[in-house]
Amino acid sequence: MTFQEIGLNSDLLKAIADLGFETPTPIQEQTILLLAKQETDMVALAQTGTGKTAAFGLPILNSINCDNKSVQALILAPTRELCVQITNDIKNYSKYLKGFNVTAIYGGARIDGQIKDIKRGVQVVVATPGRLIDMIERRVINLNTVKTVVLDEADEMLNMGFKDDLDTILRQTPDQKSTWLFSATMPKEVERIAKNYMSNPAEISTGKKNEGADNLEHIYYVVQGRDRYLALKRVADYYPEIFGIVFCRTKVETQEVADSLIKDGYSADALHGDLSQSQRDFVMKRFRSRTLQMLVATDVAARGIDVSDITHVINYNLPEDVENYTHRTGRTARAGKSGIAIAIITPKDNGKIKDIERIIKKKFEKKEVPNGSDVCEKQLFNLVHKLHNVEVKDDEIESFLPAIYDELKELSKEELIKRVISEEFNRFHDYYQNAPDLNIVKGSVDGAFGNSRTTRFFVNMGMMDGFNINSLKEFLADTVKVHNRMIFNVDVKSSFSFFETESKLVDTFLTLNTNDIEFNNRKISLEVSNRRMKEARSDGEKRGGYRGGGGAGYRGGEKRESNSGFRGGEKREGGFKRPRTNSGNYEKRNSERSSFNRDAEKRSGDKKRSFGKSKF
Ligand code: AMP
Repeated sequence: MTFQEIGLNSDLLKAIADLGFETPTPIQEQTILLLAKQETDMVALAQTGTGKTAAFGLPILNSINCDNKSVQALILAPTRELCVQITNDIKNYSKYLKGFNVTAIYGGARIDGQIKDIKRGVQVVVATPGRLIDMIERRVINLNTVKTVVLDEADEMLNMGFKDDLDTILRQTPDQKSTWLFSATMPKEVERIAKNYMSNPAEISTGKKNEGADNLEHIYYVVQGRDRYLALKRVADYYPEIFGIVFCRTKVETQEVADSLIKDGYSADALHGDLSQSQRDFVMKRFRSRTLQMLVATDVAARGIDVSDITHVINYNLPEDVENYTHRTGRTARAGKSGIAIAIITPKDNGKIKDIERIIKKKFEKKEVPNGSDVCEKQLFNLVHKLHNVEVKDDEIESFLPAIYDELKELSKEELIKRVISEEFNRFHDYYQNAPDLNIVKGSVDGAFGNSRTTRFFVNMGMMDGFNINSLKEFLADTVKVHNRMIFNVDVKSSFSFFETESKLVDTFLTLNTNDIEFNNRKISLEVSNRRMKEARSDGEKRGGYRGGGGAGYRGGEKRESNSGFRGGEKREGGFKRPRTNSGNYEKRNSERSSFNRDAEKRSGDKKRSFGKSKF
């Protein structure tokens, strides 16, 4: 059916043609047809992405009286962002309606401007419950003339504790009106609202209850809790063109993850309720314009947000309420496009995956977190693709070309390609060559003393060498050429220290012993320690210092990762380079390294030459 056939007026038809809408979505077809025939209450089960805004917006506008400046329709939505989005959509649909006005009323913005808008006369008000109540109490808004009330994302409004506010607001509206309730899920409380506020509502559904989109792939990775962030970075590096939302459970976690991503050089920012309205607007503007690749958000802040072409929804944690999973993943795979929903889980979340599968009636696929060589390969071909498609600014580059050709004249085409690619590729290779496998090895679970994937080391350097936890970490990372995140549980004592690393890196660390590196006149010596044995020996450090060996933490059978996974085969460069875009982590390491080296030189005085003997 076409929009003409379902009975929209010509001004609306013109506006939606401008928007490029060709045919109504299933929910639009149902609501527009139904509401053209009769005034009725209505309950619609619909997720964001189904075209539900137009499904209530177009019927409202189709019967609005633009000559009358009183409020005729009230749309309630749970968040400021959703309010603004609905208002913008309504403005787009109504652009040819003369004398029509819509306004958004939400907290966190100046109330006087919003009062002015209302006083000017508006036919449609889109509001969050809290601010609307404020307006009602100030007696600046009159809802007596409302003919239609829309409760959008009703389940979320209830989740957010707006039930009493909804009661208060609806009491201000006339008895004779139509109430339309839109909800992505239909928990008991929403059914109760439908019963309390509506009489004999028509029921509309866009498909099977709570079913996710068909073109959406659901995958999950199982990692240790402490590897969650590393897994997220792997995902971001593995999908260089990612444009996605990372969902976290709390505002604090949201901010922390966003801060870490920003610090590590990714294009990311946070969206949560502790930010001011202008900060949130700024973040959303950057995300909508694709200046940001990853929006890290809480469920509430991202609720209902409609941004086109989101490629990935990442569940940094699964939502507390499994029903929220459909809201989160409804952000992607819209308008026929495909999308990927990724959940990063720990072993204890396996049951939750099953619960979600029951709700979405789809199976998740358990996948392995991409390893270093997977990422390098992806980045390599992304680079080749970019090289192939790069815009060449002939006029601007022309004058430099003769000198460039001259400098490179010795190189064959193959050599040139290799070098151009290596310029970028080496950064990923350097970073990932010792990257640990983040997937949980069957049977290994974090215990009080680490697990089979981690090994504890003793090193004969400590506070007397000027080290603290961070500087020792940096020193080891710098000397062994691994990322400092690979060194954890560091315990610095006076003349020696302990630290843990991935068991796969044991050989890499042990090469320190064979490379005769000195620090403060002492040869650096590392040994695999066994914390369990040591602690069972009750306080061995106090009694007689470290007593060596053990090695139980390290299951020698594990294959060493180092270079073996890397398919590039390029020889490693000594230098350390700063990768662009998704891998800014290197950037930070680079500066940390150089500052550490300066510190180390200061500390070790003339010993810096012996430190310089490092072959790494
Ligand atoms: P919503 O579910 O209202 O958030 O809408 C999801 C997206 O679909 C929005 O970007 C709308 O602009 C778009 N949309 C809504 N209706 C149509 C339609 N009939 N044809 C094409 N796109 C649509």
